[in-house]
Amino acid sequence: MTGATTVGVLGGGQLGRMLALAGLPLGLRFRFLDPSPDAPMRHLATQITGAYDDRDALAKLVDSVDVLTYEFENVPVAVAEQLARTHLVFPPARALAVAQDRLVEKQFFRSLAIESPPFAAVDDRASLTAAVRQIGLPAVLKTRRLGYDGKGQVVLRSDAELDGAWQALGGAHLILEGFVPFRHELSILAVRSRDGAVATYPLVENHHRDGVLRLSLAPAPDSAHLQAQAEAIATQALNALSYVGVLAIELFEMDGRLLVNEMAPRVHNSGHWTIEGAQTSQFANHIRAIMGWPLGSTEARGCAAMVNLVGIIPPMIDVLNIQGAYLHLYDKEPRPNRKVGHVTLLRDSAEELKHAVARVQALIGEQHLTSPGDL
Ligand code: AMP
Repeated sequence: MTGATTVGVLGGGQLGRMLALAGLPLGLRFRFLDPSPDAPMRHLATQITGAYDDRDALAKLVDSVDVLTYEFENVPVAVAEQLARTHLVFPPARALAVAQDRLVEKQFFRSLAIESPPFAAVDDRASLTAAVRQIGLPAVLKTRRLGYDGKGQVVLRSDAELDGAWQALGGAHLILEGFVPFRHELSILAVRSRDGAVATYPLVENHHRDGVLRLSLAPAPDSAHLQAQAEAIATQALNALSYVGVLAIELFEMDGRLLVNEMAPRVHNSGHWTIEGAQTSQFANHIRAIMGWPLGSTEARGCAAMVNLVGIIPPMIDVLNIQGAYLHLYDKEPRPNRKVGHVTLLRDSAEELKHAVARVQALIGEQHLTSPGDL
């Protein structure tokens, strides 16, 4: 025994892998639990393979760990609560409970007087009709639980579509949200330490295709006037949850107003740019927070963009030949719609960044997602 501090992680995907990559230089060791034997974290840490509610696997995970965290937001809340009886578990289980149910999540933000799209619970066919009457069309019908990357939701534009949507989403436990004609999708990442200190990153502008994040721009262009509003939202949420660690909040921007779409109680894909683009990465700050160490500066080092590699790994040499490009691969087999890596681009000016983004996107056959005025 060397007395090294060990962090236990529920989930061993790319987020866990990047947490380990941030924590290893600080002398930490990692153990993680993941159902898949091929988890991207496997070559960096001790893996326990098993389900998140497997008692034996959980006992092995917590053996000799000093603090526990998670990189996957569908860890059963009961498991997080159980672990918290004997171990330090950050972020708190309540944050998981809020984030796992879109209705509870919207009610949480409403309780803080933070604006979200208008919403109503839908538990049977009659309440769908009532919710449409209350909220109007267009609207988005979503499952309350387990929706991600645009799955488990249907946009409703006319009354004629109600029956089909009701059947498609399997009936019970849905939420209807007003459709927000947003100008941009943004996210704010913030971190809260064990002693309650809060730090926020610059707003990020996010572009999705087929429900999957493709491109993030950071700091979000033309967002300086929204930063204080976003920081207030994040700080209120962090404090209300007595949160410790990194929290990501996805936002819609409409006429200079920010509306909360959802939150993720973990490090987040829209924060990957911070590895090279900020003074302290989201991963390093998450580690600092859960360890009770001082937070690092969240300041941006310039203009950054992050291009996700979804289902495709471009020729490595071509990426490395782009000045200011940083390639990250997750040790995953490319499959359609699977995030297998990302490229961060760091430049001094938005104009230079635009060209670099276009070069990476050309390598992966991605549409040019930003209009010329965007950057
Ligand atoms: P979600 O899984 O809730 O993040 O939704 C996936 C995507 O659907 C979002 O990134 C938005 O582009 C879109 N979306 C979700 N909810 C709404 C809404 N209420 N109004 C407009 N677009 C939405």
